[in-house]
Amino acid sequence: MSPWSRHGCAKIHDMIRGFITLYVLLGLLLHIFINDAQADTASDAKSQRHNLIQKHGLYESPQWQQRCQQVTEQLKLTAHCQLLNHSAPNAYAFADGVIMINQGLLKMIKNPDQMAHILAHEQAHLTLQHHQELAQFIRKPPLLFPKKKLKKLRHQQELAADDWANDHLVRHQFDPRQIHHLWQQLLTQEKTNRSSDHPALAERINHQWLVTTDQNLVWHP
Ligand SMILES: [Zn+2]
Repeated sequence: MSPWSRHGCAKIHDMIRGFITLYVLLGLLLHIFINDAQADTASDAKSQRHNLIQKHGLYESPQWQQRCQQVTEQLKLTAHCQLLNHSAPNAYAFADGVIMINQGLLKMIKNPDQMAHILAHEQAHLTLQHHQELAQFIRKPPLLFPKKKLKKLRHQQELAADDWANDHLVRHQFDPRQIHHLWQQLLTQEKTNRSSDHPALAERINHQWLVTTDQNLVWHP
């Protein structure tokens, strides 16, 4: 074997070793990424919800429970309402058909139209099978820029859920513009506490091009 070919051979070995190292590193990174991402599968929904209730407790308010149920029925949604005693202004859809609203968000809701939008947005995640889409992505993440692509997917899902909610509200005689008052309130809070799974509220507002009004901002049960 000439020194030339030995050199070539060593070079190939180095390259193979390099590829193996890279492959292992990539695998480790993906493993960390997968564990880091929230497992939004239907089978995990119950235990995720159970964990949240264990940690924060349910928010015992017959008035809010009734309001939530009423709007759910008016919108003809399949989901069931659950209220969580948590101060963060957030709502969640669980793949087993439960919509959970935090007490912190309930405090900000001023009328049935706003409640309707929150419920319809969460129902949209269920109807459009976003949990399954995310789970599928997490099971088979792309090799290049998985975190960036996951963020993009979540972003698209949020905008799609807003669109679905708007159409659904109009179809059931609710005013989809009312949610903007709540978003404006959240916008000021978002600067200090940015929600990771919702795109910037300003963008959501611009995306919909809705005109806000100051009417009907008091809840009349
Ligand atoms: Zn959402």
